[in-house]
Amino acid sequence: QFQTSQPQALATIDHDALAHNVGVVRERAGGTPVMAVVKADGYGHGAVEMARTMLAEGVRELGVCTLAEALELRAAGITAPILSWLHAHDADFAPAMEADVELAVSTRLHLAAVVDAARRAGRAAVLTVKVDTGLNRNGVNADDWPRLLEEIVAAQRAGTVRLRGVFTHFARADEPDHPVIDSQAARLKEMVGQARAAGLGPEVVHAANSAATLTRPDLRFDMVRPGIALYGLSPMPDVSDFGLRPVMRLSGRFVNVKNVREGDGVSYGHTWTAPHDTTVGVLPLGYADGIPRTLSGRFDVAVDGERRPAVGRVCMDQFVVDLGPGSGVRIGDEAVIFGDPRRGEPHAQEWAEALGTIHYEVVTGIKGRVQRRHI
Ligand code: PLP
Repeated sequence: QFQTSQPQALATIDHDALAHNVGVVRERAGGTPVMAVVKADGYGHGAVEMARTMLAEGVRELGVCTLAEALELRAAGITAPILSWLHAHDADFAPAMEADVELAVSTRLHLAAVVDAARRAGRAAVLTVKVDTGLNRNGVNADDWPRLLEEIVAAQRAGTVRLRGVFTHFARADEPDHPVIDSQAARLKEMVGQARAAGLGPEVVHAANSAATLTRPDLRFDMVRPGIALYGLSPMPDVSDFGLRPVMRLSGRFVNVKNVREGDGVSYGHTWTAPHDTTVGVLPLGYADGIPRTLSGRFDVAVDGERRPAVGRVCMDQFVVDLGPGSGVRIGDEAVIFGDPRRGEPHAQEWAEALGTIHYEVVTGIKGRVQRRHI
């Protein structure tokens, strides 16, 4: 519970829920090792804390986007294998090599930068290639693959790199029957076959994000690479929650409660006018905390297990809730902004629907001013 000396806006991060979700994912992975994706500060939950619990629950490896994210985990003392996969063409890979981070390359420029770092370090860099099998985003595509392979073969002979893995990312994994998934898997197999034919036996091939891990046991390859499901949010919310439990619960304590009269306008622009005498409460979170202003008047909070509408414009630091006439809610009482619907709390997915986005953006959008409390 909140103490007076503690923050009035809080993202409570539930490690029991996280452990439960790791269990769900591991069960679906059927014994295939799990690389947990903890990029973007663990999808907004805190990368280091998430990684620790995930590893304790049997996750084998960690995946991040940037070198800085990988180094943050190492600086916190995490020794598990870490793969990072999105880099500037001329990145300095030396600090990451030093920290034993596995490096993903997508272009010949990346490979040259890795080789340069390896020469300076006087040892081989461990490499994974990101292959583009149809997402048409980052990754080497089939046309450029033979040339990159030649260069990897040369670098491996020279002792500057060791190719450990090949991975790809699906474009439409949340549509499990979509033929694009199968065509991407087929292309991945072809590209891995080319690497093997070139004498590079990648030890580890992976492709499956959460959606594929949960729905396509045939696409596990050597490792699965889920993110969102571990945080308790279904990658296919219209289909199933897969028994996952949301890890993040966003809440605040009322900093003010007051009566307004019928006809009074509330918050900037008076976009909401009290239809009758009522009580309103002010919560100390706003768009600077990650509650989008475009959500103004389109979301609820839970107070004592009952849903109450947010009214008027969301401001930079605060928004207003209609608590109803004669409400007994007092200053300091708690409201849950989103959390677990099984407790009667709104779900991040409700925001996603109202905003025309996905819940990934909701949880990664909760800013640093909101303190994370790990329980
Ligand atoms: N792999 C890569 C390369 C990613 O970029 C992501 C996330 O976007 C994931 C895996 C995890 O995806 P999800 O969170 O949908 O499981």
